[in-house]
Amino acid sequence: MQIVVVGSVALDTIETPWGSREDCLGGSAFYFAIGASYFAPVQLVAVAGTDYPKTARATLAERNVDLIGLEFADGETFRWGGRYHEDMNQRDTLFTHLNVFEHFHPKLPDNYCNADIVFLANIHPSLQLEVLEQVQGPQLVAMDTMNLWIDVAREDLERVISKVDLLFLNDQEAMQLTGRRMLLTAVQQLHEMGPKWVVVKKGEHGAILFGPDKQRFAVPAVLLHRVFDPTGAGDTFAGGFLGYLAKQGSLAPEHLREAMVYGTVLASFVTEQFSVDHLVGLKTEDIEARREELRDLTRWGKV
Ligand code: AMP
Repeated sequence: MQIVVVGSVALDTIETPWGSREDCLGGSAFYFAIGASYFAPVQLVAVAGTDYPKTARATLAERNVDLIGLEFADGETFRWGGRYHEDMNQRDTLFTHLNVFEHFHPKLPDNYCNADIVFLANIHPSLQLEVLEQVQGPQLVAMDTMNLWIDVAREDLERVISKVDLLFLNDQEAMQLTGRRMLLTAVQQLHEMGPKWVVVKKGEHGAILFGPDKQRFAVPAVLLHRVFDPTGAGDTFAGGFLGYLAKQGSLAPEHLREAMVYGTVLASFVTEQFSVDHLVGLKTEDIEARREELRDLTRWGKV
């Protein structure tokens, strides 16, 4: 199956308790594309400025990401700054410089419009809506968002949510969006807003998939000695998840469960270094070894 992702490519400035880095390669679509590329071909739609480094394009091209939809505009690339607390689940946004994003309207190349899977990565919900107007009969539309859009663009955000099949969000966003503290109640409300499937990410505590007829599946996070920089973990999770489904060519419940596992595995790699330093260059054996770790961690009954 063909996957199209629309989102940000960025230069991120990150501070963590372990160190800091300026202008490292990031962005919601960037992380997603690298993650998904381990399973299926990805077509990326985003905008970059004239300062976007050649190394970024090379990194994506090496992972066979199709860049025909990557537009270049006069001006600077989108920049985002974040600082993590001692508790790495807590982060403050230091700055968001939209730059070339300010005048961006996603335009899907003709051969992207028939994609089977469309991922609306985190960008302004009005841009996510523009993408939905261009795609023709995808089998699955999934989206991600962030607290900023819940605060400043709620109406557009609710409109996008009403049109997608699958919503990825973290537990804090689920509560913020619904005003509900209990996860099950929040998720019920999210289903009522539109999506058949909801994936709630809980950082180091794993993720839970909720579907129709009380289908539920929880996966713990891979146990790590050190989370170095969690930036992009959510996007990479979505990349592993949707990439796996695209590879299977199936949205059957058993494949959705396995997708949860591969999303978790890919996300674990990205947290071990800044940017995609540890995510690029993985071998199939690395990915499969972590999948086995998760299997062992959650096996019960006769062992
Ligand atoms: P995550 O850690 O999964 O929330 O994703 C972090 C990535 O999202 C970073 O690489 C940022 O460049 C990107 N990002 C942060 N804020 C925004 C925004 N307002 N719009 C688009 N992308 C963003």
